[in-house]
Amino acid sequence: MEYEAIVTGAGPAGILTATKIAEEGHNVLLLEEHKRIGEPDHCAGLLSSSGLGSLKLKPPDEVIQNTVAGARIHAPSGHSIFIERGRREAFVIDRRKFDSWLAERASDQGVKIVTNSKVIAVTHSKKGAQTVKTSHESLQSRVVVIAEGVRSVLSKSVGFPTISKRSRLPAYQYELKGVDIEEDLVEMFYGRRLAPGFFAWIVPLGEGRARVGLASRSRSKIRLESALHHHPIISKRLKNAEKVRGMGGTVIVGQPKTKISADGLAIVGDTAGMVKATTGGGVIIGGLTARIAGETINEALQEDETSRKMLSRYDKRCKSMYYRELQTMYLAQKAFTSLTDKGLDSVVQDANDLGLLNIIRREGDMDLQGQVIRKLIANPRTFLLGLKAVRYINPFL
Ligand SMILES: Cc1cc2nc3c(=O)[nH]c(=O)nc-3n(C[C@H](O)[C@H](O)[C@H](O)COP(=O)(O)OP(=O)(O)OC[C@H]3O[C@@H](n4cnc5c(N)ncnc54)[C@H](O)[C@@H]3O)c2cc1C
Repeated sequence: MEYEAIVTGAGPAGILTATKIAEEGHNVLLLEEHKRIGEPDHCAGLLSSSGLGSLKLKPPDEVIQNTVAGARIHAPSGHSIFIERGRREAFVIDRRKFDSWLAERASDQGVKIVTNSKVIAVTHSKKGAQTVKTSHESLQSRVVVIAEGVRSVLSKSVGFPTISKRSRLPAYQYELKGVDIEEDLVEMFYGRRLAPGFFAWIVPLGEGRARVGLASRSRSKIRLESALHHHPIISKRLKNAEKVRGMGGTVIVGQPKTKISADGLAIVGDTAGMVKATTGGGVIIGGLTARIAGETINEALQEDETSRKMLSRYDKRCKSMYYRELQTMYLAQKAFTSLTDKGLDSVVQDANDLGLLNIIRREGDMDLQGQVIRKLIANPRTFLLGLKAVRYINPFL
């Protein structure tokens, strides 16, 4: 067998899985279809400093574009809440540079990386040898990790559940210069007319630059263009701005997959649905769970047993550590986006008036939001807020 493990897809989840496997001295190949790692990018680049710390990652200065202290959340009426949690709560990173820095680390660890190499098929065998076919060669390994992102073509071909159409939201984003914003604050704009099912965002990059984007159930690019010109706050912020570049992508707003391993196979990152449904952020949670995949594969290779029975330890560990959090975030996102604009206004105003923001400021965690959501639900003042908001649930959902 040429390799002990082959990882298909060099996004953060694939790279971190491969790095973990190589750390134990295993022979691992990482295949990426594009010529350059990290390109094309589509990410807003917002990563919590605590999440990077949990991943033991310290990106160099050239990867970090800005640091932010908190977020302002705007309701359709113009009311907003401000959640500030400290000067270096989150980093804004350049995903092209971040991914290629991760790949350099992986390579230093012994991962063999081949770019310009699209995997066109994975052939699954229970007997212990998996085959990966690219356009120019056929390779064999004990374990194959599918880290193809949101696309799920290869994972579907070997029997993993796909990400449902309802959970995949089209997104579009511009990088602009000459914007008039607070440089250390992310802004999120909610509203059923503005961005049904999700929200629009402004992520500051420093020096009057920003990523401004929108994801929604449909026509996200058109909705974004309209917001740039007509939204009362966004258009004001961007009055003198100039577009530098535009990029499209798909945000996942769903639940993690119930099955993420099979005989000789595992799926990681977006492919496995490891994304926070509240924000679509998947780099940190995808990375944390990818490392669990890597650790489990190392155990399987050491014990010379790569069956589903062995690899399902990856499923069990992710479920016990993260699924409750991810599912709570999913339900909270569902509840929030099922409100009409009046309902959103009412929740934002009441959260301010009832003092619920203090709980978020005190207990909030950018990555694992389930805990604070459960705390909020248990608070009697939230019951009042919920009772008022329930009148505004959209009956057509
Ligand atoms: C508009 C937008 C904004 C976002 N903002 C944030 C944010 O601020 N913070 C955050 O944490 N997350 C954000 N996300 C989500 C984040 O980008 C993803 O969760 C993350 O990139 C998932 O990493 P991954 O490694 O699973 O997949 P990806 O990063 O998508 O990597 C998959 C890789 O696999 C390669 N590949 C696919 N198929 C094949 C094949 N057949 N053969 C070889 N290679 C293949 C692809 O080229 C790609 O390089 C955003 C997403 C979008 C769309």
